[in-house]
Amino acid sequence: MHTELAVLGGGPGGYAAAFLAADLGMQVTLIEQSPHLGGTCLLRGCIPSKALLHVARVIGETREMAEWGVEFGPPNIQLDALRARKDKIISTLTGGLAALAKKRKVQVIQARGVLEDSARLRLEADDAVRLEYNALTFDRIILAAGSRPAVPPVFELSERVMTSVAALQLADIPESMLVIGGGYIGLELGTMYAELGSKVTVVEMLDGLLPGADRDLVKPLHRRVSSLFENIHLKTKVAALRDAGSAVEVTLEGDDINETLTFDRVLISTGRQPNSDRLGIENTQAKVDDEGFIQVDRQMRTADKHILAIGDLVGQPMLAHKASREAKVAIEALRGEPAAFEPQAIPAVVFTDPEIAWAGLTEERAKADGVNYQTVVYPWAASGRAQALGRTEGLTKLLIDPDTERVLGVGIVGVGAGELIGEAVLAIEMGCQARDIAESIHPHPTMSETYPNAAEVFFGFATEVYKPKRKKR
Ligand code: FAD
Repeated sequence: MHTELAVLGGGPGGYAAAFLAADLGMQVTLIEQSPHLGGTCLLRGCIPSKALLHVARVIGETREMAEWGVEFGPPNIQLDALRARKDKIISTLTGGLAALAKKRKVQVIQARGVLEDSARLRLEADDAVRLEYNALTFDRIILAAGSRPAVPPVFELSERVMTSVAALQLADIPESMLVIGGGYIGLELGTMYAELGSKVTVVEMLDGLLPGADRDLVKPLHRRVSSLFENIHLKTKVAALRDAGSAVEVTLEGDDINETLTFDRVLISTGRQPNSDRLGIENTQAKVDDEGFIQVDRQMRTADKHILAIGDLVGQPMLAHKASREAKVAIEALRGEPAAFEPQAIPAVVFTDPEIAWAGLTEERAKADGVNYQTVVYPWAASGRAQALGRTEGLTKLLIDPDTERVLGVGIVGVGAGELIGEAVLAIEMGCQARDIAESIHPHPTMSETYPNAAEVFFGFATEVYKPKRKKR
């Protein structure tokens, strides 16, 4: 069989590429090994984790209500119903994608694709799946085969030692759980299990949670999860791990602990690796870097003129919205348009409680790159809305170029930070100056007001913050 455009992988990168290409009149074949479209994000990532974090948040909020004089009893969790609800969300969305593919006449083949050369894909499937063809030739292919959990070889997965994939299946609510890795996936899933009732311990090799995020944003989160989690051990490594059948024995070695402990379950969240080693890339001209990412240019083209690649396969940040944007650039590039993947701001959100979100330049990055910037911070304690919600630990931070007064980056920690960061992306992409934000009227009382308030701090005129003037308006 031959197709004009093959797309390998049906995640947020792959289906976005296939759908746009079809909308623009191309003949498209989408090859996905799983029976459902949606990829990591929809089937075992963003969506199930956020559905369960929603439940975790509601449980947390009902507990907090006691401070307001309103008491709820402890939650009665019906695990089967909870799991079914999460699975229903996934099936609704995957069903929607299948219908959209059909309407657009995108041919979907359920198979594992392996490149035999620059123009031919071998199709493989398990015995249960009937394949009409065992090969597909194409004019062009977009590789969008994503990533998988990176499990250090010293750890052996078992029923009790799991990655995010099994953790999101929610087989049970273990009494105790060790989360190895204090990145966003570990903290999100740790939060979810802790609110459902597990005693969660987090172990992180580095000296802080969420490596790469600005420390002032992480601090309020660290403070809050310290009371939610049983323990957080920083600068600690897992020296040994053994599934003893009824529990997992784990030896921790660190500054504050040197002990063998037992846990009912262990979640390994030590990062993700691109699936580039399973695609037959070596049979083509495309190149892979030392970390396993497929090398692409600004138009998502590899060194092989027939092959483009997008999403988790091509580099950090491994996020769904980056994959979808790259997909659109790849298709526009194929049509000969002057498209390029050159974002000023790729937002990142950690859906913990409080949430952390940032876009554009971070302070860590600015310092490392020697960028001239000025920081202004608006503490949420000064916000009427934050007071009304009883959540004043947050802050909104702008990184501003002192010469041009342009907003270079935004960092937010606090309830709903993930919803707020979209405005920052627009501001950075549009080249906003602090003054544009300060003079745009935001609704009161909302957390979105913290943007103009922070911008006013830059000029020394913030109504609710007394911070003598540094800069003339
Ligand atoms: P994927 O979504 O991984 O899709 C790749 C697809 O290719 C898969 O369906 C796979 O089955 C298929 N495939 C692989 N190899 C082959 C082959 N040889 N033949 C055929 N098919 C193949 N990102 C966010 O932006 N926000 C979040 O909140 C978020 N939360 C996350 C939570 C968790 C627990 C995890 C694990 C990830 C999360 N992510 C989140 C990351 C996000 O899921 C990924 O960045 C995103 O899915 C990448 O999209 P992709 O299209 O590149 O690859």
